[in-house]
Amino acid sequence: MKKYLKKGVVFILTLVALYMAMIVFLPEIIDKKYNKVLQLPPYKVSDEAMKLTDSLDFIADLHCDALLWNRDLLKNNNFGEVDIPRMIQANMALQAFTIVTKVPKNMNFDKNTGETDAVTLPYILEGRPIRSWFNLTERALVQTASLHQFSKKSDGKFYIIKSKTDLAHYINARKSNKKLAAGFLGVEGSHALNGDLNNIDVLFNAGVRMMSPVHFFDNKLGSSAHGVAHEGLTDFGKKVIKKMQEKNMILDVAHSSEKMLDDILAITTKPIVSSHTGVKGTCNTVRNLSDKHLIGIANTGGIVGIAFFKKAVCKADAKNIAEAIQYTVNLIGVTHVALGSDFDGAVTVPFDVTGLSLIVDELLKLNFTHQEISLIMGGNVKRFLLENLPD
Ligand SMILES: [Zn+2]
Repeated sequence: MKKYLKKGVVFILTLVALYMAMIVFLPEIIDKKYNKVLQLPPYKVSDEAMKLTDSLDFIADLHCDALLWNRDLLKNNNFGEVDIPRMIQANMALQAFTIVTKVPKNMNFDKNTGETDAVTLPYILEGRPIRSWFNLTERALVQTASLHQFSKKSDGKFYIIKSKTDLAHYINARKSNKKLAAGFLGVEGSHALNGDLNNIDVLFNAGVRMMSPVHFFDNKLGSSAHGVAHEGLTDFGKKVIKKMQEKNMILDVAHSSEKMLDDILAITTKPIVSSHTGVKGTCNTVRNLSDKHLIGIANTGGIVGIAFFKKAVCKADAKNIAEAIQYTVNLIGVTHVALGSDFDGAVTVPFDVTGLSLIVDELLKLNFTHQEISLIMGGNVKRFLLENLPD
């Protein structure tokens, strides 16, 4: 009996040791597998592009999923696509940290259902809080909490922007010290509400200021561009949008089906964004926005973030990104276009955040003026947030 007891204890201790090892090593293994950079830094650009990038007062990006991977964003990591030290190195003022709570297994751009969930197992194996293992709202809250932790431990270097006032303060602080960075929180896919309107308040109180109705599968709000039904907004979806906009939570239409986009444009009372997208005009995929929808978003007073990965721009390089920007500017005007990298969004990107000057270089080659480049690289995001965040 004693012998069996001893074996049992050894077995359990071995399991515990394995779990502890997994918690330490697994996040980095998964992270490196999904978030690849085609060309590693340092990056070479023209003198003019380097000078202009360094002189820009507000570089901003509307989308990254860096919080999903359980990475220390206060460290300059030699993997992944963005972190706070690299933002500062890149003279980047603001990054949207958009939270992913659930993705289907075998995720693809054409057809997904919400039946499977590839986030559950990593959340368990990485030792995330038990309350978040099977609860999407809690998963979002774990990620909002980690960004707040990074801010707290940053010695005042990393701000979280939740209001017009926060942003105005930050802009002021950055006038005398460019070695600061900031983030604002978004959620990718409103299944993070667990089907409960009250959870809009819960997420808002945790700092979330932007949210998209859908991600890779159809949910209670309506259809994803990569889902099955290709329908529009449900009644619940309309209620969510109404409540979000009453609270000045920004509506992000990235990943919406075409019919969803029509329905959203018909009811929105505020300017909206597509945080990370390509445009059908330069790369005709299901993921990308048609001219009609680009014009619709611009007509709300909204902005469109051009993404950096292959399905968005057809070839993941700075030249194709700049051409998508140029097409969009020609169609809807330079004040409606921004960056929406999708860094760390389980996509392969041409460069990490320290390579944003490569886009500046390509925009210069396309004869954009310094003033236009300053708007595209972040000036538009600054203006948009100063106008549309809560007071
Ligand atoms: Zn996305």
